[in-house]
Amino acid sequence: MNTPADEIDSSLEELRIAALVRQAPLEFARVVYGLNDRANGRAGTMAAEDVARTVRQGSPVTRERAEQRARGFLPVAGHEHCPRCWVFNGIKSPLQYREATAERPESGGCKVCGAEYATRVD
Ligand SMILES: [Zn+2]
Repeated sequence: MNTPADEIDSSLEELRIAALVRQAPLEFARVVYGLNDRANGRAGTMAAEDVARTVRQGSPVTRERAEQRARGFLPVAGHEHCPRCWVFNGIKSPLQYREATAERPESGGCKVCGAEYATRVD
């Protein structure tokens, strides 16, 4: 039996998951930008640096792999993981959620790569 509090929690979880799933293609786009930037000698862009960091950690970054991972990104309610770490690196870094304040929506932060994803409740 669902109490009203459970219903609020599950709809928040749905919003979190939906917000993260929308990010996966954007992270794939960052991989593509990053690879192009590196190929064109622009190693200093944010996307290029994200690619470089992943390569330094020992994971080759390819467009094909990133695209597959972006398509296969499947966060689980209550155990949401970071879209950027997943798409770039294939690792599941847990997101830590911070409650909404008057100024900003709730967001989940990744301690591994520093990405932050807002849960928009509008
Ligand atoms: Zn991350």
